[in-house]
Amino acid sequence: MQSSLTRRITLSMVALAVGGIVLVAVLINLALTFNFTRYLGKVQEEQNRLILDTLAELYSRSTSWQAIRLSTMYVGSTTGTQIKVYDLKGRLIVDSLTGMMRGMHSDYWRRRQELRGNAAAYPLYVQGEQVGVVEIVYLGQQGLWSAEALLFRRMVLISAVITGLLAILAAAYFGSKMARRLMGRLTVLAAAAEKWGRGQFTSRVRVSGDDELAVLGETMNRMASRLEAQSDLRKKLTSDISHELRTPLSTIQSYLEAFRDGVLPPDEKHLTAILEESIRLGGLITDLQRLAEAEYSRRAAQFELLPLNAFLAAETERYRPLMKRKDISLVLELPDEEVAVQADKGLLGQVLANLLINAAKYTPAGGQVTISLTAADGEAVIAVADTGSGIAAEHLPHIFERFYRVDPSRTRATGGSGIGLAIVRELTEAMHGRVTVESTPGKGSCFRLYLPL
Ligand code: ADP
Repeated sequence: MQSSLTRRITLSMVALAVGGIVLVAVLINLALTFNFTRYLGKVQEEQNRLILDTLAELYSRSTSWQAIRLSTMYVGSTTGTQIKVYDLKGRLIVDSLTGMMRGMHSDYWRRRQELRGNAAAYPLYVQGEQVGVVEIVYLGQQGLWSAEALLFRRMVLISAVITGLLAILAAAYFGSKMARRLMGRLTVLAAAAEKWGRGQFTSRVRVSGDDELAVLGETMNRMASRLEAQSDLRKKLTSDISHELRTPLSTIQSYLEAFRDGVLPPDEKHLTAILEESIRLGGLITDLQRLAEAEYSRRAAQFELLPLNAFLAAETERYRPLMKRKDISLVLELPDEEVAVQADKGLLGQVLANLLINAAKYTPAGGQVTISLTAADGEAVIAVADTGSGIAAEHLPHIFERFYRVDPSRTRATGGSGIGLAIVRELTEAMHGRVTVESTPGKGSCFRLYLPL
């Protein structure tokens, strides 16, 4: 089935060709007719002059009307004209046509010839004195247009029409070819979009060329990649969540089954274990809620000009009691100049909270946590460094992933679910920033937030 777009493009190309050809044919015809007519008019005028001179000559020399009549007939037949001579009273004296021929050239016919510019009347002077009026009518319908001239004009028009037909055929052929190629590429794009609509994000559009359609194809491919990543992430998140929920639930379940079957006594120790697992479950649900909120913040971040020196000083004071309880010294290093960024105060507060709580969690008593601020290359850098356990190199690329924990068993003791750093990354990116980590196991870690100034 030919698409309506293909048909429309082809038809408009053909219409354009037809319009062009008709215009050219009309212009050629007009130009030819106008110039030829002007030229022939001049020739006719000259010939008429000659006829008049000849008649004047004849009149001045002739002796009988019969001689004049014969000579006029001769001039008429050689010039292809009807010549009529009237005297000053308007009486017809001479008609170059014989009786039979006269019948064929009625008054009506003469009027039409006049309209066509093929008839004219002139005063006849003999030796400076007007003796009558001469009417000269060209006998051919086309006046002085010769058969060759007519043929020439017809040939030019026929050539124009043939060229036009060829141009129309070419326009139809190339127009439909171009339209088909265009439609082919559009169909490929539409088919890809259709697949993505059904959730098949793995397919990609094959992009060729560098025109607008190629750009569209590339943009669509990028969109598909993001959709695919989002879809994978969602699948992974769902399986992670069910896995995380199942662990404490099955622990609780096995304790309860053991109590029912009399395998374990429901004493304080075992009940405490159940309580810890349910607290963990509750914590996990709280963390999930925080993560969902962080993802929402990406869209709802409220930016304001935030002077970081004052902001960090206030935050440091908030966490001083926590650090003090754990016997960790908290140090703040601020630059002399003011550093300000466009950021969401609430989100940046949450990011710092996650980093400082982690630092406190993973730094032993007697250690130190340092918050520092610098500005370089158009970015503000907030670093949170600790002298804690550090993170092994193989874990570093993963610690910002959801539910990723370096040591699940140890983390269980500290109550983490591996969501804190995922939230840090989510919120930092919501503020158009990025976060990095450097760590040496046994020596400590340093998390850096980069925010555009
Ligand atoms: P959690 O809730 O388990 O702390 P996070 O996402 O905050 O989850 O951290 C992921 C993992 O990164 C943690 O399990 C921990 O092993 C490691 N980690 C995070 N911060 C630090 C730190 N300051 N020092 C050492 N390890 C850390």
